[in-house]
Amino acid sequence: MSYDLIILGGGCAGLSLARRLSELGEDCPQTVILESRSSYTDDRTWCFWGEDAAQLTHLVRHRWSWASVAAEGKTVKVDCSAFPYSMIPSLAFYDESLEMISQAPQLLLEAGVSVLSEPLKVGDNWQVETSAGMRSARMVVDTRPLQTPQRQAAGLRQSFVGHEIECAEPIFQPEVAELMHFEPAGEGEILFFYLLPLAENSALIEATIFSAEPLGPDRFEKEIQEFITRRVQGANYTIRRSEHGILPMGIPPPQGNPDASYVSAGLTTGAARPSSGYTFQRIQRWAADCAKALGAGLPPLAHARDPMLLRGMDAIFLRVLRLQPEIAPELFLALFKKVEIAILVRFMSDRGTLSDYATIASALPSGPFLRQTLPALIASRMP
Ligand SMILES: Cc1cc2nc3c(=O)[nH]c(=O)nc-3n(C[C@H](O)[C@H](O)[C@H](O)COP(=O)(O)OP(=O)(O)OC[C@H]3O[C@@H](n4cnc5c(N)ncnc54)[C@H](O)[C@@H]3O)c2cc1C
Repeated sequence: MSYDLIILGGGCAGLSLARRLSELGEDCPQTVILESRSSYTDDRTWCFWGEDAAQLTHLVRHRWSWASVAAEGKTVKVDCSAFPYSMIPSLAFYDESLEMISQAPQLLLEAGVSVLSEPLKVGDNWQVETSAGMRSARMVVDTRPLQTPQRQAAGLRQSFVGHEIECAEPIFQPEVAELMHFEPAGEGEILFFYLLPLAENSALIEATIFSAEPLGPDRFEKEIQEFITRRVQGANYTIRRSEHGILPMGIPPPQGNPDASYVSAGLTTGAARPSSGYTFQRIQRWAADCAKALGAGLPPLAHARDPMLLRGMDAIFLRVLRLQPEIAPELFLALFKKVEIAILVRFMSDRGTLSDYATIASALPSGPFLRQTLPALIASRMP
């Protein structure tokens, strides 16, 4: 059978687009989603700020009204109750998305089916070779993670391991999300812990390292075990679930496919915010726009590029972090101490205004940033 659209990969981006398509009714294109995993597990959690524009908030299972950053014996704790830090467990998103797909007659999810080679255009159709045979369609949205040199071009990687633990005793403060708890790191690395209490006796605890090289889960085991041991104060605990990720930070934007009927989307092709790795809400915004275009009979959309000023600020920030990792704790403490949380949230959620950018720039130590401005702009080929 030939489709209007093939979505390669049914992870966050592929399913987000499919669920938006399912809302189009009769305008929904005939679509197949090809996904190599045969079943979905609770493999990650998605966090974001619960500001007005945040999407899928009905799937949020935990919210925190306070956020803190700590380093070198100092802690900054801010009231973020107006836009609580929010968490969606991936399984809640997967379950609802699969249900929405199953209810839409034009959508088919083929799980356990792997794409084996790059799609080829033959006449007006893309031919996709899969482990279950050939599939063909007029249009392709490719959400498979890039494994090409472009991914290697990321200046920094954010590698992390998280354990969801349950303790024998109540020890956590359920209303405070500890976003960054910095600890001394190895040469060229930035190390911090992330602690999201889920109840008084359970929490998701992650160790994150920003470094030039991608780091596997084994690299973190010693640090995370030591941190957990300190925080549980000798209480017995069990690990309920673990997650691991490597997010490239600051990938150059991919060259668009000259054929408008084929676009790439997802984490490695423009969805991730370069300076933070936040991706989930950016994928939701893209999925809404892309589905709208498809519903109107137009070709699919790639991720929109960030405004030039935002790209410039992110490029400078990343360059400072890469070249002077030792000042990272001071930078983040200064941001959370000096900048109103509403401004920080707008900035982190891609909704900053010119005056927000100016406030953030003025809160950061000028020396390192002034020195890196020109090289960062040249390196990112920005006018
Ligand atoms: C553990 C973890 C925690 C994260 N936490 C956050 C967070 O808190 N907030 C945030 O904003 N972002 C977070 N992210 C980043 C980002 O939101 C996620 O990585 C998100 O899943 C990216 O969506 P995606 O669709 O690009 O990739 P994925 O969700 O990984 O989907 C890609 C899909 O393609 C499939 N696939 C790959 N190759 C093939 C093939 N050959 N054939 C068929 N299918 C294929 C894969 O099986 C997968 O399902 C996190 C990432 C991870 C890994």
